[in-house]
Amino acid sequence: MINVILFGPPGSGKGTQANKLEKKYELLHISTGDLFRHEMNNNTELGNRAKEFMQRGELVPDEITIGMLRNKVESNRGVRGYIFDGFPRTEIQANALDKLLAESGETVTALIALDVPDEEIIKRLMLRGESSGRTDDSDVDIIKNRIEIYKSETAMVFGYYDVLSKSYSLNGLGTIEKIFDKISLVLDNI
Ligand code: AMP
Repeated sequence: MINVILFGPPGSGKGTQANKLEKKYELLHISTGDLFRHEMNNNTELGNRAKEFMQRGELVPDEITIGMLRNKVESNRGVRGYIFDGFPRTEIQANALDKLLAESGETVTALIALDVPDEEIIKRLMLRGESSGRTDDSDVDIIKNRIEIYKSETAMVFGYYDVLSKSYSLNGLGTIEKIFDKISLVLDNI
């Protein structure tokens, strides 16, 4: 199996690249942000619990996020691999992911981080907010909060997998195709 974590701040292009990788390598793309938005749109209990955190640009508590991720993985056993997009975002989530994969004798293959400067992220997210209608993409203070939370709570996950020689950092600026080629090169060489 290939189990890839696509990593990086909000707006770094994880979702775009995950969609392309999903097709090329026939992997299952799991975006915890998309799963939460789906729950919210369907007014489920899980969606309602996540809503207040998402609207403030804060992380949804680990136990809620991990439970949702576990359900998704367990109901899709037998795939060729997973692309995790937006997960793990804390050390506790990284531990939980390792444990979950170990249950079927699997591990994380690689964490690939897309590096994008803050000013570019703000520009990209404001633009995305105009077309997506996502409220967390339309307010500059919420965007800044998400960037801060990425730095203070999430960025350390890179180090968690780097110790295991599994982390790769790529420049996230450039065309979608060029970045995709660089990610593919990393995966093809593993
Ligand atoms: P995203 O689409 O990945 O930018 O996620 C949108 C929002 O969903 C985040 O700002 C968080 O509020 C929530 N979220 C998504 N994934 C996670 C996660 N792994 N842990 C905690 N909260 C998450």
